Amino acid sequence: METESVQVMVVTPHPDDAEFGVAGTVARWVSEQKRVIYVVCTNGDKGTSDEGVSPEDLVKTREDEQTAAANLLGVKGVIFLRHPDQGLEDTPEFRKEIVRLIRLYRPETVVTADPYRRYVWHRDHRITGQVTLDAIFPYARDHLAFPDLMKEGLSPHKVKEVLLWGTEDVNHRSDITETFHVKLAALRCHRSQVGHIPAEELEKRLRERHQSFAEGENFSLAEAFHRVEILW
Ligand SMILES: [Zn+2]
Repeated sequence: METESVQVMVVTPHPDDAEFGVAGTVARWVSEQKRVIYVVCTNGDKGTSDEGVSPEDLVKTREDEQTAAANLLGVKGVIFLRHPDQGLEDTPEFRKEIVRLIRLYRPETVVTADPYRRYVWHRDHRITGQVTLDAIFPYARDHLAFPDLMKEGLSPHKVKEVLLWGTEDVNHRSDITETFHVKLAALRCHRSQVGHIPAEELEKRLRERHQSFAEGENFSLAEAFHRVEILW
C-alpha cells in the first residue's frame, strides 16, 4: 500500500456504500489525474439475506468485490479497517484510526456518509459520518490531539472540503453524465449486494435517481452531496 499523499479520501461504512454515494464523481476525479483512496470501516459481515452464507465467507466476498470496484474506478488503494458490521461506535480509538489515516494521506477532500440524515439511517453510516467529521476537525488539525501520533511523525493536517452523501440537505451536485457507465460497472462488482437485481432494472433505477439529483442543472446526471468548506 502506497502512502503517498492523495487529493481525496473516501471513508465508507460498508463495502458498496462508496459506489452508491460517490463512484461517478470518483471516476471523474481519477480522469482528472486526482489520487483517491478508500477507507472501508466495517467488514460488511451482516450484509446478506442469504442464510446459507457464513459471515466469514461474506467478508472475503465483499472485500474482493470492493477491491474490484476500486480497481475499476482507478482508486489508488483500499484500506479495510474490518470493524464488525453493525458494530461501529463513536470511540476515541475509532476516531484515532481515522485521524491517523488523514494525517498519513493528507487529503484535500474527504467524502463520507452524512451523519445527520434523520430517522431511518444505518447506524454504521451515522457513526462513520460523525466520527469522520470529528476526526477532520479538530483532531487531525490539532497537534495536541493524540500526541503519540506526532511522535510517529504524523503531523497535523487541515482538510479543505467535506462532501457528505445520503444527505437530506443537498447543496452540491456533481456532474457524472460522462462517468455514469463507470459508476454502474463499479456497482455491479458488488454482486453479493446487487446481483439479484436484473441489469436493466439496476441501470434504470440508478439513472432515474441521478437524473433527479441533476434537476435544475445544465447537465443530466448528478451525484448529490452536502458540501462543507473548512476555512480554519
Ligand atoms: Zn452501508
